[in-house]
Parts: sequence; C-alpha cells; structure tokens
Amino acid sequence: MKAIRVHEFGPPEVMRIEDTPQPEAAAGEVLVRVKAAGVNPVDSYIRTGTYANKPSLPYTPGSDAAGLVESVGEGVTRVARGDRVYVHGSLSGTYAEFALCKEPQVWPLADAVSFEQGAAVGVPYATAYRALFHRAHAQPAETLLVHGASGGVGIAGTQLARAAGMTVIGTAGSDRGLQLVREQGARYALDHHNSGYLDELMKVTGGRGVDVILEMLANVNLDKDLNVLAKHGRLIVVGSRGTAEINPRSAMSRDANILGMTLFNASEQDLKSIHSALVAGLENASLKPVVGQTISLADAARAHHAVMESGAYGKIVLVP
Ligand code: NAP
Repeated sequence: MKAIRVHEFGPPEVMRIEDTPQPEAAAGEVLVRVKAAGVNPVDSYIRTGTYANKPSLPYTPGSDAAGLVESVGEGVTRVARGDRVYVHGSLSGTYAEFALCKEPQVWPLADAVSFEQGAAVGVPYATAYRALFHRAHAQPAETLLVHGASGGVGIAGTQLARAAGMTVIGTAGSDRGLQLVREQGARYALDHHNSGYLDELMKVTGGRGVDVILEMLANVNLDKDLNVLAKHGRLIVVGSRGTAEINPRSAMSRDANILGMTLFNASEQDLKSIHSALVAGLENASLKPVVGQTISLADAARAHHAVMESGAYGKIVLVP
C-alpha cells in the first residue's frame, strides 16, 4: 500500500510517499481502507521531533481518518467489513491507504457525512467536547468565547456549544473565516487581529464578559482573556505556542478558573463517552464538520505547511 513515511524528524519535506506492506488485523483490531485522513497541528509538531510524544522512526503520521472497514480481527463485534467509519487513533498511522486500529478507535460514520468530513472529526471534535463538557462543565444558557473559531477545534466547539444551548462568540483572522464562524451559529464573530475586538466583546455581553473561554493561542491571549471572563468563569487552554505573562489579580477578582487540557490524558472510558456523543451529533446533523482544503496524500508536505498558516478555514484533509 501507499503510505507517508518519516525516516528522520525535520521539516514537512521529510514526509515521503512509499510502498509499504499492508497491515493485517489481529485479534481485537480493525483494518480501515482510508478514504480521507485529517491533518492536525499536532501531526506537524510530532514530525519536527520536538514534541513530548516522539514515535520511533520510521513512522507514518496521522491519528484521524474516515473510510470503510476492510477486515476485522478475531473478537471484533462493533464493526464489520464494509461499514463506513471514522477513526480517532491508529496503530499504524492514518496518512496511508490503510490504517490498522484497535476496535475502540473506530466509530460508525453517519451516511449523510462524507469521508472528508469524517476525517475532520477525531482530534478536533473530541478536543472541543472534552474542553467544554469534561473540563469546563459548560451549561446551556452560558456564554462562550471560542478564541480561534475558524479552525478544526474552533468550529467543533462552536457547533457543540450551539447544540447544547450556549451563546457563542467566535474569533477569526480573515473575512472568510469570520463568515464561516457566523455560519456555524456564533452570534458574534470578531477579528482577533483588530485592536479593540475584546472591547467589542464586553459591549455585546453588556459588560459582563463570558462564562467559558476555549483558548487556541494562550501565549498571545491568556492575559487578555482574564479581563473578559465573567465572575466564576472557566478558561480552558487548548492551544499555546509559547509562554505567557498574566496579571494574577485579574484571576483573583473574578474567582477565575484557568484549566489546561490535553486529549492524550483522556482515558478509554472518557473517549467512549465523548465519541458516543459525537456519533449522535453527526447522526442528528447538529455536528457538520467543515473541510476547507482537500490535498492528495502524496502532497502531505504541502498540507503540513498549510496547517501552520493563518487564515484557517475548517479542516485540511488528505486523500489517498
Ligand atoms: P487550526 O485548524 O490550525 O486553527 C487554528 C485557529 O487558531 C484558527 O481559528 C486561527 O484563526 C486561530 N488563531 C490564529 N491566531 C489567533 C489569535 N491571535 N488569537 C486567537 N486565535 C488565533 O488548529 P486546530 O486544530 O483548531 O487547533 C487549535 C490549537 O489547539 C492548535 O495550537 C493545536 O495544536 C491545539 N490543540 C490542542 C489539543 C489538546 O489536546 N490540548 C488538541 C487539538 C488541538 P485564523 O487562522 O483565522 O487567524
């Protein structure tokens, strides 16, 4: 089968397409014929070799995909050959024509959801769900700021929060990103490159601020976030690409909760609960993943450049 292989850590160009042996499903495993694979920022951090979780070389990148079940190992009961599925996590990597998974890493994909959309579910939707409901304990009628709403996690967070009855304010850094954020159900879309956009947020919340913040770039925004959080608010650090300085008094005065999260800390039971909710949301169409760019698997390097650029518009997916 064709697969992207990384033989040394480094820039996107270390990813090369090669012929590799097709894996076989052993007991408890599922082999998925990949129709589309999701590209996440973490895939590019891992590829550089500087991330905490470092795979042994050579490896095939990717944790997200959607496709058809090709074969199942002994004892697998949840899926059968031919089923449409999405994948969150894999034993062999998803940037390939086939991905070998453990049975709990494979979930049914509703007929109305395309394979490209299915490839956009795994990490982004699981992260947004975990941040909102396991970490922030978000409630209907609360107000949420999705600080970075135009990308994979932000769109997922916006859709999940709207389905749960929250009011969403989302930010983006381009006109088409702002339009996309509005289309996902955000009541207000603000440009995070405009000076004064958080003054606008305070205005539209009547000076109260927001109950919950999903923060995609904490090194830039953490201190500012604390000033737009309502009393007893919860700020979830989802993404950060550096250090931040804050004024602790801003946290004291509002009994603020600053919470970190990484999806790697979610247990198998947590993931079961998360994906059960996501499968239902995909089935009832409250969750509609947005794919902005579809790129050929052989061009994976281009996808890794694109995922680190500004002007996000939903997900980037690879097709074999
Ligand atoms: P993505 O699709 O590349 O989206 C990045 C988002 O950040 C876009 O909405 C982008 O907006 C926005 N952004 C850029 N500059 C910003 C600023 N100054 N203030 C606020 N937002 C800004 O990435 P993603 O998949 O959504 O992931 C978002 C972040 O979360 C990444 O850093 C990723 O590594 C991290 N993450 C963490 C976990 C975890 O377990 N903690 C899991 C998944 C992802 P524009 O491009 O429109 O400016």
